[in-house]
Amino acid sequence: MAIQLFVPTFDVEACIEEIRECLEKGWTGLGFKTVQFEEAWKKYTGFSNAHFLNSATVGLNLAFEILKEQYDWSEGDEVITTPLTFVSSNHAILLSGLKPVFADIDAYLCLDPVDIEKKITPKSKAVLFVGFGGNTGQYERVVELCVKNGLKLIVDAAHMSGTRLNGKIPGDEADVLVYSFQAVKNLPTADSGMICFKNTDFDTIVRRKTWLGINKDTYARFANENATYKWKYDVEYVGYKYHGNSIMAAIGLAQMPHLDIDNAYRRQIAEWYTKGFEEYSEKIKIVPIPKGCEPSRHLFQIIVEDRDGLMAYLNKNEIYPGVHYTDNTQYRMYAYANGTCTKAAYVSDHVISLPMHLRLSYDDVQYVIKTILEYVCNNG
Ligand SMILES: *Cc1c(COP(=O)(O)O)cnc(C)c1O
Repeated sequence: MAIQLFVPTFDVEACIEEIRECLEKGWTGLGFKTVQFEEAWKKYTGFSNAHFLNSATVGLNLAFEILKEQYDWSEGDEVITTPLTFVSSNHAILLSGLKPVFADIDAYLCLDPVDIEKKITPKSKAVLFVGFGGNTGQYERVVELCVKNGLKLIVDAAHMSGTRLNGKIPGDEADVLVYSFQAVKNLPTADSGMICFKNTDFDTIVRRKTWLGINKDTYARFANENATYKWKYDVEYVGYKYHGNSIMAAIGLAQMPHLDIDNAYRRQIAEWYTKGFEEYSEKIKIVPIPKGCEPSRHLFQIIVEDRDGLMAYLNKNEIYPGVHYTDNTQYRMYAYANGTCTKAAYVSDHVISLPMHLRLSYDDVQYVIKTILEYVCNNG
């Protein structure tokens, strides 16, 4: 059997039970389960606000749009960001009329605070931090730097569902965090996400914007049987149709009790890989985890000399790893910064994400290790 990078695993019975409630009630849209899931996520994270979305991508777009409006940023104001991320992080900056300014990464593949500091200009307004693979990098130093320089902090937490730092879910310090519950992320649905603003007024705004700018959701009107004018609503913004729905929220609710258990198994897999490569640290560099961080282990990544050769060899043996990510400055819209982040450029050519999902057995992991060692030890 082929070994894939990611395969989502669902608690099928629990998902169907939650979805059944939606279908029987006749309520599959905004409200009902979306409210329950938001409450469950606030309780789990300890954050004061959480709004359920149809993806993390739209959440990132709205994060920049709302911060820009609320803090009166100008066209072309700068956001310091990483070149090593899924393009939706950086597209969000561009789409809001802001300029991505790329800083280099550190050993954890997260933004390097030393390089962030070098990239600060009078036009800098914010930092976009990606908790790469579910690790927290030097998050605390990035927070300090933002405070010191009056920069807003946006966290792309797409990989971070369940990550702890010093025993708690990190993020209280950030202005906004965006989680992804896309199918291959640690809390799988099909497509959905969550945006968590520190400022409750911004949470109110984002709720309006994700439903066309309308200021009262259908469910509240549905529930309020006695209102005479329950068909009436105001439209405050030119908004979008970005909110999540009850079917996705139902899957999220069913999966939530599994998140910490699933992540513990992901850490077990990571330990098996780590042990397997222990004696080969010259040829295989494991991306480290910072002190105090209990990672979600969305990814387990190694850095090797001949990545493309190894990838081809693994594919020949029916193992299909992935690459996270291509240095974004290689894409045309970010090419103005090509060559400015040499560490990210190196990692982009040498990193490989090994299979990491709940259906992998101990034997599968050993087979992946053995196949990698065969190639790496016989080819330079
Ligand atoms: C998956 C991912 C996103 C986008 O999430 P969607 O829910 O698919 O929109 C954004 N950033 C990173 C780092 C991701 O891995």
